[in-house]
Order: sequence, then C-alpha cells, then structure tokens
Amino acid sequence: MKIAVYQGHQKFSIEDVPVPSPSRGQLLVKVKYSAICGTDVHGFLYDVVPPGTVMGHEYSGVIVEIGEGVTKWSVGDRVVAGGVPPQGKEARYISNPRFNYRELGYAISHRGYAEYLVMEDWEPTKIPDGVSDEAAALAEPSGVAVRAVRKSELRLGDTVGVIGAGPIGLFTIQAAKAAGASDVYVSEPVPARREAALNAGASGVYDPSDMIESVVAATDGLGPHVVFECVGIGRTLDQSLDMVRQFGQVVLVGVAWEETPVLPANWMAREVKLQTTFGARPSDYGMALKLIDDGRIEIDHMVSNADVIPLDGIQRAFEDLVNPSTQVQVLIKPDS
Ligand SMILES: [Zn+2]
Repeated sequence: MKIAVYQGHQKFSIEDVPVPSPSRGQLLVKVKYSAICGTDVHGFLYDVVPPGTVMGHEYSGVIVEIGEGVTKWSVGDRVVAGGVPPQGKEARYISNPRFNYRELGYAISHRGYAEYLVMEDWEPTKIPDGVSDEAAALAEPSGVAVRAVRKSELRLGDTVGVIGAGPIGLFTIQAAKAAGASDVYVSEPVPARREAALNAGASGVYDPSDMIESVVAATDGLGPHVVFECVGIGRTLDQSLDMVRQFGQVVLVGVAWEETPVLPANWMAREVKLQTTFGARPSDYGMALKLIDDGRIEIDHMVSNADVIPLDGIQRAFEDLVNPSTQVQVLIKPDS
C-alpha cells in the first residue's frame, strides 16, 4: 500500500509498504478520503513535524478486516475516528495538564495519508447512513467548530465575527448559526474562500484590510458579540480583540506557531474576554456527525467543490495550501 511520509524540510515521499494486519483487539481500515487540515499545513510550513510522520487525522474509511477478540465492529462498517479511549490511553493534551503543543504537539502519528491504517477497537465512531464518505472525512474539522462554539458564550440572536474562511472558519459559520447566531460576518482575503463563506451562510464577507470598520458598521457600530479567530497567523488575534464588542468574547481557534503581536491599548478598555479551544474531542465527533446528518452543518457544497487528489499529489497540494489561491478544501482519495 502507499503511504505519504513527511521527510522534513517541506518534503513528502510516497512509499510502498506492506498492508498491516490487525492484531488482537484491532481493526484494519481502508481509507476512503483524507482531508488536508490547516494544522498539518502549518506543521509543514514551519517544519515542526518530525521526519517519518504519516500525518492526516481527518479521514473516513471502511473496516476491511477485524482482529481476534473484536466483537463490536464488523467488516463493512463505515467509520471515522473519535472513539472514547479507555483510561490511560487519553490524548496527551488531556492527560498532561501542562501540555505544550509547540513542544510536544507533533510527536504524533495520525496515519490518515495512507491507503490503510490500523485502529484499536475503541478508536472508531460509526458514520451515520445518511452521511457520505466524503462528508464524513470532515467530521473532525466540523467537530473543532462544534467545540469552539460550545466553548463560547454565544447566545440566541448574537452577532458573530469569523476571521478566516478556510475549512474551520466555514464550519464555524455553520455551527454558530446552528447555535442561534443571527448574523455572521467573515474576514477573508481569498476570493474562492469568500464565496464559500457566503455559501456557508455568512451575512457579509470583507477583505482583511478594512474588516474591522466594515464589521463594526454592520453591527450598529458595536462589533460582534463573539469573534472566532480561525487563522492563527500574523495580526489576526489582535484584530479579533479589536473587532469584538465591549464585554464581548474572542475564541481563539487557529493555532499560531509564531509570536503574534497584540496592542492592548487599542481594545483593553472594552474589557473583552479571550477563550481558547483546542481540536476536537471524542464527543465532538459524534455531535458533528449528527449535525451533518440532519443538515444543520451542510457540507455537500464544500465536498462538491473540493479538490480531490490522489496520494501522490500531496506535495503539490501542501505547497499550494501554504498560499491558497483557489483551494478551499482538499480531499485525498488514497485508492485513486
Ligand atoms: Zn484537523
């Protein structure tokens, strides 16, 4: 089978390795689609992914073989990750209360950029019948948005700002609306992503150069109640804090790998709040799949506009995603 191995220095290699066989308590999953995540692109851009890593944590697949002792799954079951780990197997950011993502984060093999992967029997979550393999590959990033909105103080009728209309920003628009936001205003420089934001339900999309003035004007001169920062590069955190209304809340979703300048004198008199959120935890996958299944997170338009590429297109796709021009969502189809 083919796997895409990160070699360091912004290079992938495609390698041919034997298909693994599941041991006791394990499953073999054939990967249907793997979505390229902005976090992986940051890991590539800043070269913080350890060489030898197979990245990819946004995937859907089908169980093709089960190991001894597995009773709750069958061959043919369609699955994503998101199962609840038993005690002692929790993700390190949960088990370590002082977890530092920059120092410890990427020492993880996620395995999705491959034709097959082995899972422990507690790892999968079943894909609802009404959700396609393509859509299910986006359960994890949808779960990130669900988590971000649930971490926020968003209340019915509030106005919302979303900085960045990459996949996470697009899901956050929808999750915020599902949670009762009245209007969602988006800042995004890339035309294809601005259009995707409107399709996702944004009331207005603005260029970053004048987004604060535009969004403040659109919210009766006050600014949005909650701003979700979904970029993590440059001045976007400062802009989020400057945009939000008095006593409002900024939720930091995008992971910044560089120091990001803030100028508190601009906004601290407004007594704003800052909340961070991190990734998606097992319960977020299930909620996201339910919201996708019942249409409150509608991702068919994202899937139908996605760039679907074979595994050996991964190098080019990452290079393009560092400075996206037309790309919104890229899906790898490893068996193509
Ligand atoms: Zn991700």
